[in-house]
Amino acid sequence: MINVTKPFLPPIEEYQKYVQGIWERTWLTNNGPLVNELELKLKEYLDVPHLFFLGNGTIALQIAIKALDLKGEIITTPFSYVATTSSIAWENCKPVFVDIDPKTFNINADLIEAAITENTSGIMATHVYGNPCDVEKIQAIADKYKLKVIYDGAHAFATKYAGESVLNYGDITTLSFHATKLFHTTEGGAAVTPNAEVAKKIAYLRNFGHATPESFHGIGVNGKNSEFHAAMGLCNLKYIDQIRRRRKELSDYYDTKLQLLRHTKPSIQAKAEFNYSYYAIVLESETALLKAVEALNLQWIYPRRYFYPSLATLNYVEQTPMPITDDICRRVLCLPLFHELTFEEIDMIARVLLRSQNY
Ligand SMILES: *Cc1c(COP(=O)(O)O)cnc(C)c1O
Repeated sequence: MINVTKPFLPPIEEYQKYVQGIWERTWLTNNGPLVNELELKLKEYLDVPHLFFLGNGTIALQIAIKALDLKGEIITTPFSYVATTSSIAWENCKPVFVDIDPKTFNINADLIEAAITENTSGIMATHVYGNPCDVEKIQAIADKYKLKVIYDGAHAFATKYAGESVLNYGDITTLSFHATKLFHTTEGGAAVTPNAEVAKKIAYLRNFGHATPESFHGIGVNGKNSEFHAAMGLCNLKYIDQIRRRRKELSDYYDTKLQLLRHTKPSIQAKAEFNYSYYAIVLESETALLKAVEALNLQWIYPRRYFYPSLATLNYVEQTPMPITDDICRRVLCLPLFHELTFEEIDMIARVLLRSQNY
């Protein structure tokens, strides 16, 4: 069976060594030494000034909304994972959808201004598949209307824009370190910010609002993560360059093998250094997609419809037709991509896909 992804696992002895240390210290969670070490190493690796290791990527989004004190309407993308929209609704804000760019599948920055009202407090956009949003245009709009910007960077680990980390754009960028992501800590996530004041706020928001054991800055939540999760991250971080190189090789191989397939792919931003976190193809029609999925499933190959359906069709939002998103959602498919995937398996996936188009 070949799934769309398969988590990387480090050699078990390397994880056990960290576990040994946890046993000796009997310090399991609450800002322990491994959490600190992971945060330091991630800041260095990702080249960001402030980073907080959190329970998951969804609590990171919720903390980001709280940290920036967003209220009312938040402009967002309908083409993302459901957590992007649900976190807005969960924080009692209203998601206002703006359609995506037909080439990059990221929020179409040219359509944002028309969606701004006097109730708009922020923009929450996703770097879809790790492909950077139009960060400069979005910042210009945010500056003009005094809006805050949150990037859902769950796919954007190690992506660069104009030679620097894309995570340094916007007021806060969130990351997900879920087992299915490029870099993982089993469950986990992070919030990144270039702003020291915002950083202070994230620090207490993730820890129940504590200022001292007996006093509080304000409302907070349990957004912390544990020593065991940090240990998994520290193990995996040693292999991340190797994993990224492998994913690039595999993606390039897909490119050569799918040349005859009638499809398109999202275009990567001209200024981006892509992280190869997903391999997405767009087929000619939903019928072609369903045919391809059926043929692959018969061979025990399970691609995923990331993303389907449009988030503007959820039953707790104001349902809005989004022509480009609706079209892409019907036709987009993420093919298996993970470090252990082999060229032979890609040969087989390509053969099945081509045969589904009667080659
Ligand atoms: C995975 C993902 C999330 C949620 O992250 P969790 O760590 O699973 O909570 C949010 N947004 C996007 C775009 C994702 O892919």
